[in-house]
This record gives sequence, structure tokens and C-alpha cells, in this order.
Amino acid sequence: MSAVAAEPGRLSRPGATSAKPWGRRPYIVQGVAYVSLDALAAELSRRRDQHALDADFDDPVIAEVINTMHPEIVASTQTAIRFRKRSMETLPSWIRAQCPATWRFEAFFVPLQRWQDVTAYPWRKRGSPLTDLKSALRAIFREHCRPKIAEACAVCGRAERLEFDHIAPSFDEIAQECLGLMTPEEIITKFDYDQFDPDRMTLAAFIPLEHPAIVHMIATHRIGRFQWLCHEHHQIVTAQRRRDAKRRERVHVE
Ligand SMILES: [Zn+2]
Repeated sequence: MSAVAAEPGRLSRPGATSAKPWGRRPYIVQGVAYVSLDALAAELSRRRDQHALDADFDDPVIAEVINTMHPEIVASTQTAIRFRKRSMETLPSWIRAQCPATWRFEAFFVPLQRWQDVTAYPWRKRGSPLTDLKSALRAIFREHCRPKIAEACAVCGRAERLEFDHIAPSFDEIAQECLGLMTPEEIITKFDYDQFDPDRMTLAAFIPLEHPAIVHMIATHRIGRFQWLCHEHHQIVTAQRRRDAKRRERVHVE
């Protein structure tokens, strides 16, 4: 692992590498020593908790952590200068589809001149490319395949809190087939995903709709069996399916 090159305006932390720019303990941020990354995380969380949703703020501790401990940001020419907890209601549905939380953390970057989602805990392990691509596929599915208007629960007929249920094939099966149609290069680079791209804000936007994986997903949806279920029946149906799958596995082993 190579050491982080000293860049103008970037702190080089003791023990830092390009993959782990947070270096070794204690972690000094704004002159304060934190004995562990957990202790630093608690301070970051306490600071974020002080702010209301959708109100932007300055925070020198959060800024130093993001600008000096985040591998992708350290490697970029971008600097985070302001922060906000953005409520999900203010985000378009195709972004909400990828993130079930009530808000997401964003920083305003220069020279990008744009708010961008970012983690405040850059040392926490992020998903593998496959996990990220699978959530991107889910977002594309919701945007381009799933019927926009929910009707009623297929079991009880209620129209509240409807969720889309894949009877067959399951979304996992569809996603596995789609991933199989991507090249190793496309998977490793995540279609050259760049979170600082000026026009495309999510990984889903980097996967061309005419890519064989997406063409396959759209074609599969045309022949697949799907239904709308209320939240309660979706849970019951999903649990039953899991039990059935386990039983089939047991029969297979015996
Ligand atoms: Zn129902």
C-alpha cells in the first residue's frame, strides 16, 4: 500500500495510506485527540444531531474528517465546505428508492459547486461493487419496469402501504442474471461511476439503458409474475417463501 502523497491543502495523517487515509490512533481532528474511530464517530454523530433536517451548516470537525479521511475525496480535487441532513421527501423518488432512511447526509463540494451525498464515517466498510450494482439495478427496475400506480393488495384488497412483490422470478434471480451480463471490467469499475460527475448523480445513471443487462431486466419483467401486496401481507408472503425454500433445501439434502 502506498503512502498518501502530500497534496497542497491536504493533511497527511500519521500512518495514512491511500486506502486508509485516517491513519493510526489517536486521531487528531481540529486539535482534539480521539482514542478510537468509534470515539470520533460518536462526536460526529453528536454534532450532526444538533441540526434540523434541510438546514445547511458549517462544521470544522466534520469538514476535516471528510476532507482528510475519505479515500475518494482525498484522491479528488474536491473539498466539502458545508453540510446538511437532507430529508428524503425533498429527493426524487428514484433516489428515495435506493435509500430507505428518512434523511441522507450531504456536503456541498467545491469546485464541483454541488450538494452530494457523502458518508461522515469514511472508515466504515462500504458495499462491494456487486452490492452497489444490485441496488442500482433495483432503482432502474423501480424507475423503468415497475408499474407506477399501485392497485390493491392481492390478498386483502386494501390500498394502503402497497409494496411490489416479485412472485417469480424473484428480484435476486433477475439481478443475478443481469450481473452475469456485465463484464468483469464494468463490475470492477462500476461503469466508471464517479460521484463527482457533473451530470449523473447516482450509479444507476451510469448504466446505459441499452446495456444487455438492462434490456434483459426489462424483457424479464414482461414475462415475470408480480403483484402488489400491503406491507403486512408482503411480510407474511415473504416469510412463507423463505420457509418453503428451506424445506426444499432439506428435502434435497435428505
Ligand atoms: Zn393485504
